[in-house]
Amino acid sequence: MIREGLNIIKVGGAIVEDEESLKGLLMSFSGLRGKKILVHGGGKIATEIASRLGVETQMIDGRRITSAEMLKVVTMVYGGLVNKDIVARLQALGENAIGLTGADMNLIMSVKRPVELVNFGYVGDVKYVNTRSLKSILEAGAVPVLAPLTHDKEGTMLNTNADTIASSVARALAGDYSVTLTFCSSTPGVLRNLEDPTTLVKTISKTDFDSMVSDGTISEGMIPKLQNAFEAINDGVSKVVITSPSDLSGGTTILADPETDD
Ligand code: ADP
Repeated sequence: MIREGLNIIKVGGAIVEDEESLKGLLMSFSGLRGKKILVHGGGKIATEIASRLGVETQMIDGRRITSAEMLKVVTMVYGGLVNKDIVARLQALGENAIGLTGADMNLIMSVKRPVELVNFGYVGDVKYVNTRSLKSILEAGAVPVLAPLTHDKEGTMLNTNADTIASSVARALAGDYSVTLTFCSSTPGVLRNLEDPTTLVKTISKTDFDSMVSDGTISEGMIPKLQNAFEAINDGVSKVVITSPSDLSGGTTILADPETDD
């Protein structure tokens, strides 16, 4: 049986905050035919609004901590302002967008990250994606726009990495659709030299990834992004790409691990 296509596009916080990039991305997104989902990141706007409200941003080892007060701000900013701005703009482009967090229709449930070396606060690790509800929204012809927020089903919202949401939703829906997962980042894809966009790596295997992490070619946010990408391609997602918002059909394609005979 040929499964219907589904495009899942994840757009990072830096793009959401850059007017020109966001405009271009939303235009390209609205040009995609068939079923689609947009997952957006948060960006620095939450930090800016938090400081205006007198809420301090706590950092440990350069990593942001979601305090109880910051959780209120990210819920307002990511689930409200950022999400609804994107929805309104997609509606203007003729897309029947619906903005949702993981709490809506119990779409994405997570558990608060256990305290080990660092207490990240109100950060959720995804445990469950409600494919039935997501499918019903898609089948109704609407376009879900997912904010980087989940819930614990006990009444608490949790701040959740948007790459992880995109990868988890893609894997969960891979049984029903032929899913293409595209991570839109501020770089054209994985680069050999960060300063030089012509050094784009067209395809990357897990072996390439391991050696490029060891020699320092791949670092920072690109490491967890690629880990999410490999999890998706090895768990039924048809195609996984990392690219820039201006080139949805280009970028770096993630290669699945070779099949092993058991
Ligand atoms: P997002 O754009 O989704 O917020 P991140 O900022 O978390 O993504 O991760 C992308 C960042 O990873 C790039 O902006 C870049 O600074 C960094 N990076 C590290 N190594 C590489 C690499 N080899 N190729 C491309 N980007 C890289």
